[in-house]
Amino acid sequence: MRPIQMVDLKKQYEHIKRDVDAAIHDVLDSCAFINGKAVQDFTENLGTYLQVKHVIPCANGTDALQIALMALGLQPGDEVITPSFTYIATTEVIALLRLKPVFVDVDPDTFCMNVESIEKAITSKTKAIVPVHLYGQAANMEAIMQIATQHNLYVVEDNAQAIGCDYTFKNGTTQKTGTIGTIGCTSFFPSKNLGCYGDGGAICTNDDQLAARLKMIANHGQSARYYHDVVGCNSRLDTLQAAVLNVKLKKLNEYIAARQKAAAFYNNAFAGNPNITAPFVAAYTNHVYHQYTLILKEINRNQLHEFLASHDIPSMIYYPVPAHRQKMFESFGGSAFELPVTDWLTQRVISLPIHTELDNDQLALITGKVNEFTHS
Ligand SMILES: *Cc1c(COP(=O)(O)O)cnc(C)c1O
Repeated sequence: MRPIQMVDLKKQYEHIKRDVDAAIHDVLDSCAFINGKAVQDFTENLGTYLQVKHVIPCANGTDALQIALMALGLQPGDEVITPSFTYIATTEVIALLRLKPVFVDVDPDTFCMNVESIEKAITSKTKAIVPVHLYGQAANMEAIMQIATQHNLYVVEDNAQAIGCDYTFKNGTTQKTGTIGTIGCTSFFPSKNLGCYGDGGAICTNDDQLAARLKMIANHGQSARYYHDVVGCNSRLDTLQAAVLNVKLKKLNEYIAARQKAAAFYNNAFAGNPNITAPFVAAYTNHVYHQYTLILKEINRNQLHEFLASHDIPSMIYYPVPAHRQKMFESFGGSAFELPVTDWLTQRVISLPIHTELDNDQLALITGKVNEFTHS
């Protein structure tokens, strides 16, 4: 059996090697390493895939979030509501821009922002909500957008883990995550569902004026060559990375289906196990399984991790320390936030290998060992 990895990028590459290598060689031949044709093509292709009016490529997902918040013209001290149960980048950029992160709790079943907590956290200083589509399923966007409209707030979706995920509104219409809020942000970090072979990111919006502003900020605040209207940054998607992404975007639906198939195998194998909770999928979303994350009941997580490791099965804790308990946020009053569900989940979640290349022998071994340890 092939060794089990959290993500098997090598085997995935082997399947697309010819196309990727050719695309990379085209870039090498053109020597247009910055803003080359592949960048324009990818920008267009991603817009078509997501059905969004504007895509602004940038250097990584963290920059995407930072540029999005910069474009909204917020003032130091303005409050931004965000989950604490997320990757640090979501909350870090808020603090970096001297805005105030206001951490709210998540739902124990979806791991995404709890809607009532958002409403309770709103003050006269609140300017934006940053929902995270954690692990690959959408936050409750219809409810979040309603709150945002009611209180005149911006919504910046952190879609780094959920590209390709579908959100279905109560009236039956479906939209891709990252295209519902004011601005959507995503990452093409190699292990993400649409990953390049280095760093990359993108920002989406349907708002023409915001799109122009986002583009300007990502390019040194430049309006015309050597004329700089606002303080911006230098954040570009490499042509080489765009070339890889053009190949992989064509495969994205197939990749999502492969992840869903692996998740279905897991769900089926864990169905009778009372000591672990398999991922719950809310009615308004599908799940693109960036992670497959269990909640452990009375199981010692470290011991399970060690037991699996002893059988060459990797597992990971996403994330062992929530943002509000990070030292980084001490001066922002982080630990003063009471987030019982976040704290509870932080102690109990464990993520199993999930990627596009898992085969049934590997899945049988993983599920067998997890059940052996947890279901006694
Ligand atoms: C990966 C990730 C980011 C940051 O993306 P980078 O490309 O690594 O900067 C932001 N938010 C979430 C939820 C992520 O998973």
